[in-house]
Amino acid sequence: MAPAFRLGPGGEGPAMINVTGRVCLNHPDRAAVSRCETCFRPLCPECIRSTDGVHFCSETCARNYARSGERMADFNAKARRGRFRRRVRRVLTLAVLAVLAYFAYRWYTVHRKETSDLLDRARRTAGEVRKSVDTGIRGDK
Ligand SMILES: [Zn+2]
Ligand SMILES: [Zn+2]
Repeated sequence: MAPAFRLGPGGEGPAMINVTGRVCLNHPDRAAVSRCETCFRPLCPECIRSTDGVHFCSETCARNYARSGERMADFNAKARRGRFRRRVRRVLTLAVLAVLAYFAYRWYTVHRKETSDLLDRARRTAGEVRKSVDTGIRGDK
Protein backbone atom coordinates (compact mmCIF):
# COMPACT_ATOMS: atom_id res chain seq x y z
CA MET A 1 0.00 0.00 0.00
CA ALA A 2 1.39 3.42 -0.98
CA PRO A 3 1.88 6.04 1.72
CA ALA A 4 -0.42 9.06 1.77
CA PHE A 5 2.46 11.30 0.69
CA ARG A 6 6.12 10.75 -0.10
CA LEU A 7 8.95 12.95 0.99
CA GLY A 8 10.94 14.69 -1.74
CA PRO A 9 14.35 13.38 -2.86
CA GLY A 10 16.17 15.82 -0.55
CA GLY A 11 14.16 14.67 2.41
CA GLU A 12 12.15 17.92 2.26
CA GLY A 13 8.58 17.43 3.23
CA PRO A 14 5.47 19.32 2.22
CA ALA A 15 5.04 22.98 3.08
CA MET A 16 4.01 22.54 6.70
CA ILE A 17 6.85 20.37 7.95
CA ASN A 18 7.45 19.57 11.54
CA VAL A 19 11.12 20.29 12.26
CA THR A 20 11.27 17.93 15.22
CA GLY A 21 13.65 15.10 14.43
CA ARG A 22 14.89 16.85 11.28
CA VAL A 23 18.36 18.05 10.47
CA CYS A 24 19.53 21.41 9.16
CA LEU A 25 19.59 21.70 5.40
CA ASN A 26 23.20 23.02 5.46
CA HIS A 27 24.44 20.90 8.37
CA PRO A 28 23.19 17.31 8.16
CA ASP A 29 24.82 16.60 11.53
CA ARG A 30 22.85 19.26 13.38
CA ALA A 31 19.23 19.10 14.45
CA ALA A 32 16.86 21.66 12.98
CA VAL A 33 15.16 23.93 15.51
CA SER A 34 13.13 26.05 13.14
CA ARG A 35 12.24 26.42 9.49
CA CYS A 36 12.41 29.13 6.86
CA GLU A 37 9.16 31.04 6.75
CA THR A 38 9.36 31.32 2.94
CA CYS A 39 10.74 28.01 1.64
CA PHE A 40 10.08 25.91 4.80
CA ARG A 41 13.59 24.45 4.88
CA PRO A 42 14.65 23.10 8.27
CA LEU A 43 17.28 25.27 9.93
CA CYS A 44 19.76 24.86 12.78
CA PRO A 45 20.29 27.81 15.16
CA GLU A 46 23.42 28.92 13.25
CA CYS A 47 21.62 29.05 9.89
CA ILE A 48 18.62 31.05 11.05
CA ARG A 49 18.45 34.59 9.63
CA SER A 50 16.00 36.31 11.93
CA THR A 51 14.09 39.35 10.73
CA ASP A 52 11.60 40.85 13.16
CA GLY A 53 11.42 37.54 14.98
CA VAL A 54 10.64 35.60 11.77
CA HIS A 55 13.14 32.92 10.71
CA PHE A 56 14.58 32.61 7.20
CA CYS A 57 17.27 30.51 5.56
CA SER A 58 18.62 33.39 3.47
CA GLU A 59 18.36 37.08 2.70
CA THR A 60 16.52 36.18 -0.50
CA CYS A 61 13.81 34.37 1.45
CA ALA A 62 13.57 37.28 3.91
CA ARG A 63 13.17 39.70 1.00
CA ASN A 64 10.59 37.50 -0.72
CA TYR A 65 8.68 37.22 2.54
CA ALA A 66 8.74 40.99 3.05
CA ARG A 67 7.61 41.51 -0.53
CA SER A 68 4.68 39.10 -0.25
CA GLY A 69 3.82 40.80 3.05
CA GLU A 70 3.77 44.15 1.27
CA ARG A 71 1.59 42.66 -1.44
CA MET A 72 -0.83 41.42 1.21
CA ALA A 73 -0.85 44.82 2.92
CA ASP A 74 -1.42 46.47 -0.45
CA PHE A 75 -4.21 44.04 -1.25
CA ASN A 76 -5.86 44.64 2.13
CA ALA A 77 -5.57 48.40 1.73
CA LYS A 78 -7.17 48.18 -1.71
CA ALA A 79 -10.00 46.03 -0.37
CA ARG A 80 -10.52 48.54 2.44
CA ARG A 81 -10.55 51.42 -0.04
CA GLY A 82 -13.08 49.56 -2.22
CA ARG A 83 -15.35 48.94 0.77
CA PHE A 84 -15.02 52.60 1.81
CA ARG A 85 -15.86 53.82 -1.71
CA ARG A 86 -18.93 51.57 -1.84
CA ARG A 87 -20.10 52.86 1.53
CA VAL A 88 -19.56 56.49 0.46
CA ARG A 89 -21.49 55.86 -2.75
CA ARG A 90 -24.41 54.38 -0.81
CA VAL A 91 -24.46 57.33 1.61
CA LEU A 92 -24.28 59.79 -1.29
CA THR A 93 -27.17 58.05 -3.06
CA LEU A 94 -29.26 58.25 0.11
CA ALA A 95 -28.31 61.90 0.58
CA VAL A 96 -29.29 62.75 -3.01
CA LEU A 97 -32.61 60.94 -2.58
CA ALA A 98 -33.24 62.76 0.71
CA VAL A 99 -32.46 66.13 -0.91
CA LEU A 100 -34.75 65.33 -3.85
CA ALA A 101 -37.53 64.25 -1.50
CA TYR A 102 -37.03 67.42 0.52
CA PHE A 103 -37.26 69.65 -2.55
CA ALA A 104 -40.24 67.74 -3.88
CA TYR A 105 -41.97 68.26 -0.53
CA ARG A 106 -40.98 71.96 -0.46
CA TRP A 107 -42.29 72.40 -4.01
CA TYR A 108 -45.51 70.68 -3.07
CA THR A 109 -46.10 72.79 0.08
CA VAL A 110 -45.27 76.05 -1.76
CA HIS A 111 -47.27 75.24 -4.88
CA ARG A 112 -50.06 73.30 -3.21
CA LYS A 113 -52.54 76.19 -3.75
CA GLU A 114 -51.50 76.65 -7.36
CA THR A 115 -51.76 72.92 -7.90
CA SER A 116 -55.27 72.74 -6.47
CA ASP A 117 -56.25 75.91 -8.40
CA LEU A 118 -55.01 74.27 -11.54
CA LEU A 119 -56.98 71.11 -10.74
CA ASP A 120 -60.09 73.21 -10.01
CA ARG A 121 -59.73 75.02 -13.29
CA ALA A 122 -59.25 71.76 -15.14
CA ARG A 123 -62.32 70.30 -13.44
CA ARG A 124 -64.37 73.41 -14.25
CA THR A 125 -63.20 73.36 -17.85
CA ALA A 126 -64.07 69.71 -18.12
CA GLY A 127 -67.50 70.45 -16.62
CA GLU A 128 -68.07 73.25 -19.14
CA VAL A 129 -66.99 71.06 -22.02
CA ARG A 130 -69.33 68.34 -20.84
CA LYS A 131 -72.14 70.86 -20.47
CA SER A 132 -71.59 72.23 -23.97
CA VAL A 133 -71.43 68.72 -25.36
CA ASP A 134 -74.69 67.89 -23.55
CA THR A 135 -76.24 71.07 -24.95
CA GLY A 136 -75.02 70.19 -28.42
CA ILE A 137 -76.50 66.70 -28.18
CA ARG A 138 -79.76 68.09 -26.86
CA GLY A 139 -79.78 70.72 -29.63
CA ASP A 140 -79.54 67.96 -32.20
CA LYS A 141 -82.73 66.42 -30.99
ZN1 LIG B 1 14.17 29.95 2.69
ZN1 LIG C 1 22.69 24.91 9.79
